[in-house]
Amino acid sequence: MKTIYVDNAATTAMSERAIEAMTPYLKEVYGNPSSLHTVGQVAKEALEDARVRFAKLINADPKEIYFTSGGSEADNQALRSLAFNGLKKGKKHIISTAFEHHAVLHTLKKLEKEGFEVTYLDVGAKGLVSAEQVEKAIRPDTAFVSVMYANNEIGTIQPIREIGAVCKKAGVPFHTDAVQAVGHIPVDVVADNIDMLAVSAHKFHGPKGVGALYCRKGIPLNTFIDGGAQERNRRAGTENIGGIVAMTVALEEACANMQTNAKKMRALRDRLIDALLKIPHSRLNGDRDKRLPGNVNMCFEGIEGEGLLLHLDARGICASSGSACTSGSLDPSHVLLAIGLPHEVAHGSLRISLSENNTDADVDAILKAVPEVVAYLRNMSPVWEDLEKGKKQHLI
Ligand SMILES: *Cc1c(COP(=O)(O)O)cnc(C)c1O
Repeated sequence: MKTIYVDNAATTAMSERAIEAMTPYLKEVYGNPSSLHTVGQVAKEALEDARVRFAKLINADPKEIYFTSGGSEADNQALRSLAFNGLKKGKKHIISTAFEHHAVLHTLKKLEKEGFEVTYLDVGAKGLVSAEQVEKAIRPDTAFVSVMYANNEIGTIQPIREIGAVCKKAGVPFHTDAVQAVGHIPVDVVADNIDMLAVSAHKFHGPKGVGALYCRKGIPLNTFIDGGAQERNRRAGTENIGGIVAMTVALEEACANMQTNAKKMRALRDRLIDALLKIPHSRLNGDRDKRLPGNVNMCFEGIEGEGLLLHLDARGICASSGSACTSGSLDPSHVLLAIGLPHEVAHGSLRISLSENNTDADVDAILKAVPEVVAYLRNMSPVWEDLEKGKKQHLI
């Protein structure tokens, strides 16, 4: 049975070019960039070359790039630094949204325990925040704003440029978790008015365990991991050279092919959405137009998302019910609750996240499997029986 992988928001397969670019740094060029000898200095040159190339892809200066162990670390370091900077000025108010990734949300929860006050902006039924909402929420004691570029579950793309402009005008630093956006849609830290931004390589066909934090010049960045003087004293630890080189190559590839890939994925995505919406009592989650090219997120009433996933997996289709981080827990997705779905509806979710490697044949197979499995599960569901007999009201 062929595997159809449609969980690319959780992670992607590495590109061949990224693997090829990485291999020499695992074999011959194994030096420590902090060593003064030739073997070390060759590695150091590769590191700094990657930094220059990587920075260019998001329109940053190489000095504004700090390599990290991934998106979570970059988010943690950004938020902790911005909170600390705020605290020094007596500012203890933070603005964010209710549907951030847990790397941001859980850090904010901790900051609340430490005395910060967080305003979680409403993301509305479509899963979008507006610059106006941000503007209204800004106070004299606002330390920073953090709004994700694109949501990892429902794929909605936020008006980052406008939000950034509002923050800039008010003199409030602006962080964005751009893990789902970079490599998929155009991101320009200057034009988008971004002060700090988190990136993760494994979401655009790079390796896992490597990412980057962009921090605009002039904004103080604290160390998050203390130790040696790597990353200009901002992130200790011997650099993951192979990972950093591979991430850079993967991002160059993703940016060079962005338009072609997006066009292909949008066509597949739209076929999926149109056909899946024909299943009775189903809905699309998140705005239809302002969404990532590869994202489909649906709810089917009367079923459990986990059951749907297991049956799809048995047919070789690897999808998700939402976030990989919440799978295994019985709580419905915080993102689906944030867009106002009732618990019983939110439980029946399915996320299909495409990559450019998916084909029309993959979509055909998904469109055969999903309606069959949904019908099968509904047939066995007491909840569905109640809905059909009118003992309960349909919510979709
Ligand atoms: C995957 C993801 C992260 C975490 O990145 P890691 O490199 O896996 O730590 C953070 N934010 C968003 C939006 C993500 O999709």
